[in-house]
Amino acid sequence: MNNRHRHGAYGLLIRHVMAPAMDAIRGTQTMRALRELEDSQWWPLSRIEELQATKLNELISHAYQKVPYYRRLMDRADLRPCAIRSATDLSRLPVLTRDMVRTSMTEMRATDYPARKLRRGTTGGSTGQPLVFYSTLDDQRTHGFARGIRAMQYAGVDLGERRMLIRIQRHHSSSSEQMLHRLSRILENVHELDSRDITESTLTDIVSYLDRDDVRCLTGYPSAVSFIASWIEEKGTTVPALDAIVTGGEQLFTHQRQRIRTVFGLEPFSKYSTNEAFEIAMECEAHSGMHIAAEDLVVEIVDANGIPVPPGTEGRILVTNLHNYGMPLIRYDLEDTGAFLPGSCPCGRGLPRLSHVLGRRFDIIHTPSGRHVSGSNLGTNRLANMPVRKFQFVQEALDHLVVRLVAVPGTPDSDLSSMRSCIPPMLNKILGDDVRVEVTFQDDIELTSGGKHLLVISRVDPDSWLNKGPTAHSR
Ligand SMILES: [Zn+2]
Repeated sequence: MNNRHRHGAYGLLIRHVMAPAMDAIRGTQTMRALRELEDSQWWPLSRIEELQATKLNELISHAYQKVPYYRRLMDRADLRPCAIRSATDLSRLPVLTRDMVRTSMTEMRATDYPARKLRRGTTGGSTGQPLVFYSTLDDQRTHGFARGIRAMQYAGVDLGERRMLIRIQRHHSSSSEQMLHRLSRILENVHELDSRDITESTLTDIVSYLDRDDVRCLTGYPSAVSFIASWIEEKGTTVPALDAIVTGGEQLFTHQRQRIRTVFGLEPFSKYSTNEAFEIAMECEAHSGMHIAAEDLVVEIVDANGIPVPPGTEGRILVTNLHNYGMPLIRYDLEDTGAFLPGSCPCGRGLPRLSHVLGRRFDIIHTPSGRHVSGSNLGTNRLANMPVRKFQFVQEALDHLVVRLVAVPGTPDSDLSSMRSCIPPMLNKILGDDVRVEVTFQDDIELTSGGKHLLVISRVDPDSWLNKGPTAHSR
């Protein structure tokens, strides 16, 4: 169903008057980029790939001419820009890891972009090692924003329709930046809520805000959205009548999807975006995988050696953002795992799809006997069906796993002790008997500095499990 312009005169005013005015103030062309994206998504895949190849050629030439890092890299490999004609040629270049970006930071910036024209961003706070990168106004505010608006359209939410957005509050460097951010939020009609502010004492207000007639959509981390759903269920409060729920920023687990579906009566839309590349992929109304914004990005799925794997096979997700001319990141490893979904989508869009994204590649529990088990395989569905609000796995040592639980308030002691006794054997079946599983109850589980909930925290030195057992993690 195409909901475009459904909300009448106000929607037209936003789209044709206010948003273009915002573009003029910011010096961006978001609305032009949006119109192009609204059109190109319906093209056949071959035509989308042609557009992608043209943009990729331009980016590679730019990187060769203006970015010392790529000039050296390609000269050393005896490659000229004409050797990279399409996405399939990209594997001639090496994978770019976060560590490589850290080491070569200054050399990766384009020489024709003065520092004042670059926009600083950070990422990776959740792994404890933040990474600084740079993008441009055109990349972030024209193309990134346009992809973001199109992604919301997939959920039936158009620019200017009121929604609540759960995220960590960003710090905007200058006061003019802050003003622009505020203007932009007014225009988009977005009410921001910091994920760290979702507490027992604020939930009543949050839920009553969501119940307002004009609030159409809730967008946020899946852990936060499903936590709100659990709270509504527990309290027996009126369920807010929303039209759409969009989750992003973390992996959407099956148990979270089920809880959101059960409580709100809506199928959530999962979105994949990162700080470095902005919007990457979004689930459409067919709820069959996530469409990659292939007009603006090249997404590759590769094995441990950087070689592309066939559709349906899981691998590392690499992204090449075709609009960041300030600091091009080519074949950049997002440290997430995912797979392409073969075939075309029933919705008719030509954009390729990711079947799923399995979150951080480091969300893995390693065992003394060499097993590598993804956190999402540790009986999360069963845990979610216990009187538990939040849970987290902390691997303290190779042979010691702590399961942190936040129980539903008022859970009888007998239930707590039965959880304490039944969870360890359940996990030992998955991990093996050489891991001591300990269950602890806490009042809450802290969020990362990025406001996210981590499913797995590992305090184990990678040297203790590297080269032990199969490298592929069992699922
Ligand atoms: Zn689709």
